[in-house]
Amino acid sequence: MSTTTPLMRQYLQIKSEYEDAILFFRLGDFYEMFLDDAVTASRVLGITLTSRNKGDKDAIPLCGIPYHSSQGYIAKLVGSGYKVAICEQVEDPKTAKGIVRREVVRVVTPGLVTDTDTLEPKENNYLLALVGDTASGYGLAHVDITTGEFRVTQLETTEKVVSELASLRPREILLPVEVEGDSLQQQFLRSLEGMLVNRLGDWEFETDRAFETIFNFFKCGSLQAFGCQDLPQAIRAAGGLLSYLQRTQMDDLRHIRNLTTYHTRDHMVLDEATRRNLELTATLQDGRKKGSLLGVLDRTVTAMGGRLLRQWIHYPLIDRNRITRRQDALEVLLDDSLGRFDLSEALDGIYDLERLNGKISMASANAKDIVALRDSLQRLPRIDELLRDRKSELLQSLRDGIDLLPELVAEISRALVDDPPFVLRDGGIIRDGYNSELDELRGMSREGKGWIARLEQQEKARTGISAMKVKYNRVFGYFLEVPRRFSEDLPADYQRKQTLANAERFITPALKEYEEKVLGAEERLVELEYELFQEVRKKTSEQGARIQQTANMLAQLDALLSLADLAHDRQYVRPLIDDKDVLVIEGGRHPVVEQMNLQEPFVPNDVQLDLQENQILIITGPNMAGKSTFMRQVALITLMAQMGSFVPADKARIGVVDRIFTRVGASDNLAKGESTFMVEMNETANILRHATSKSLLILDEIGRGTSTFDGVSIAWSVAEFLHDNKEIAAKTLFATHYHELTDLCLTRKRIKNYNIAVKEWNDQIIFLRKIVAGGASRSYGIQVGRLAGLPQPVIDRAKEILHNLEAGEFSRENEPRIGRSKTQAAPKFNPQLALFSSNDDPLRERLTLVDVSRTTPLEALSLLDELKKLL
Ligand code: ATP
Repeated sequence: MSTTTPLMRQYLQIKSEYEDAILFFRLGDFYEMFLDDAVTASRVLGITLTSRNKGDKDAIPLCGIPYHSSQGYIAKLVGSGYKVAICEQVEDPKTAKGIVRREVVRVVTPGLVTDTDTLEPKENNYLLALVGDTASGYGLAHVDITTGEFRVTQLETTEKVVSELASLRPREILLPVEVEGDSLQQQFLRSLEGMLVNRLGDWEFETDRAFETIFNFFKCGSLQAFGCQDLPQAIRAAGGLLSYLQRTQMDDLRHIRNLTTYHTRDHMVLDEATRRNLELTATLQDGRKKGSLLGVLDRTVTAMGGRLLRQWIHYPLIDRNRITRRQDALEVLLDDSLGRFDLSEALDGIYDLERLNGKISMASANAKDIVALRDSLQRLPRIDELLRDRKSELLQSLRDGIDLLPELVAEISRALVDDPPFVLRDGGIIRDGYNSELDELRGMSREGKGWIARLEQQEKARTGISAMKVKYNRVFGYFLEVPRRFSEDLPADYQRKQTLANAERFITPALKEYEEKVLGAEERLVELEYELFQEVRKKTSEQGARIQQTANMLAQLDALLSLADLAHDRQYVRPLIDDKDVLVIEGGRHPVVEQMNLQEPFVPNDVQLDLQENQILIITGPNMAGKSTFMRQVALITLMAQMGSFVPADKARIGVVDRIFTRVGASDNLAKGESTFMVEMNETANILRHATSKSLLILDEIGRGTSTFDGVSIAWSVAEFLHDNKEIAAKTLFATHYHELTDLCLTRKRIKNYNIAVKEWNDQIIFLRKIVAGGASRSYGIQVGRLAGLPQPVIDRAKEILHNLEAGEFSRENEPRIGRSKTQAAPKFNPQLALFSSNDDPLRERLTLVDVSRTTPLEALSLLDELKKLL
């Protein structure tokens, strides 16, 4: 069989170790794919499928791509959810005995992409490992191999896992095989949507082995320094993740220098629904950043700053001191528009140092990358200078943390030319004067070329043949070309090499001597340049820790500048942060809605929430009045305040909250087999179980997904429950269309009514957008329906029905008034209504037969008895 050729045997052997990946098998200048891989790859990449031994019955499907343009193809396959194993020739084909040795040097999966050109600059690309169960908790570790960030945590509940998955949005997730992995996959089915799930052997997550892996990787003997020594599930996750990295990446992972343990208790907790509902980093409608909170806040100029700001939004602080530190820094930056501008300008030219550093450490950086790093570092002294004397503890600590790395800058400048080529093997990278051997070789090559160039003139003079030319081709190297008519009378040192139709080609010993010098020097030159470049790259990677730290400082500075710039432009104010349970906002605005092109100016609103008198605000008002906008703005202002940002308001005082919960709108979860109402109730149950008196609750129309009576009853009792239970007596904004709920304030002292004012004019409504004390008097749903363009007959009929309903649901004859109308005749026969119809009622029938004037008291009594029996 053709598969038994030595090459195919080697292929099949390697392939058997990477069955779940598409194997890129290096053959000369190509990566070839065979068999099923070829079929899949040709389909996904849109390249031609051919076959080895065409026509043969054992023909092997085959497709290939040039190795130098492989990045784009790899990105496309990985983007389509495939793994790609890159198999290289690991010995020089010239010196190899027999078949060239080949090995897989790297496996690329969505979580292991290192080609940063294919990634979103302002988003992390996480690979995440998850283990554990409800009884012993969950371990969750994640890494971004492009930046080296590696973090781990242990979580007690499934909700927290779902929430972390929603904020990290990893591209790839690792679970154990067997029962544990099955149950995790089942539990987090919805959260795992769109991620590549890999199942690793259970042993990779075993506690002892995980300890070993971490110890070996970081060359340490305890986990004390990482802070996760007492978190067994976290250790398992981190160990499994590392072991997978080592197995698949195979490159140097030196830029993963640290393992950071984090705890959700250090940040404001945001569950998955809340992150989604508040549109923190993506809109509900189309999942885009534009229109989300991040879309407004992000004015960062570097990719690192952009990624950090995203993290700040997902992890607001709860420590007052940390919040104040950021606020102080913002205040200093805000007060100095010029300085802010200069700093932004200095940051603007800085490349993604974190990702450059990752590439350098993984030895995939080219000379352009190193020069980009140098150019970035060269901007640091300016930043250092601009930060000097800024009276903010945080800004000073950033300044202290920025390492100017002057020796590295000098070294790179000495070594590399300013605009090196992308390709590393063609020379032209190293600067003159950096290395004496290189200079010498260059001299030789230059000298030889000069000599050869001069030769033409010399030989023309010597022979008197002015039509003679010095030429070069790959077969003979340099030669002298002489027209045939002159070729007989040439000097003795001319050796004939080739005869063409009109010319003959000659070489001379002197020419060959110089040629050897030139070509030999050039070959060695390119080799030496590559070696020197590798040395520079290595020296740079040795400074990785300092580069990483500097990158982190710059990211913080960029994020702060972004917030300061926004605060300045939109006139945000610094909120007062304390630990009291009070939330007061005067003249608050919705940060996103106020920037939309509204037809009307945005109307600011006030709010006061506390645990004495204003714990639960019931907010009524017509549809479209602005209830949701108002409630979301309170939540967003609180979140922004705890990020350390200034807020869109005239004045604000924010008592730090531990969680923001939202129950907003309807979202079907059909994949999980849950109806709209079920989702609503699940989220409400979650809130009632987990809220504390430090939380902020946004409840939008609880109970609307079911019948009116059920809905009112549920909404009412939820409000009472939140009011009456001290432990969960959270500050709550409760919007509703059930006007009945406005009566709650009669019996519950911390419940207050508010409504969003409207004005009636000629049967139309004008939205005033202002929140005022008291309950709304009407719903105006029909007027809003008219605004939305419902046909006039539908509007008129709805008004009649409303009128009838408001007058009481049934007439004295037990007829539903809803059915009556001036414009429409009541239905003639309706089985639904038959129950109440007079004709069929035996009681009525019997009564109509009675003539009271002729009935004796005794008969009346027995009639009464008869009627009772009939009843
Ligand atoms: P429904 O009860 O139907 O859900 P709602 O009362 O929650 O409606 P919102 O969705 O908050 O109403 O607001 C509707 C629109 O009104 C918003 O999209 C916005 O354009 C505008 N709006 C809301 N609040 C304001 C405001 N304070 N100033 C100006 N325009 C506003």
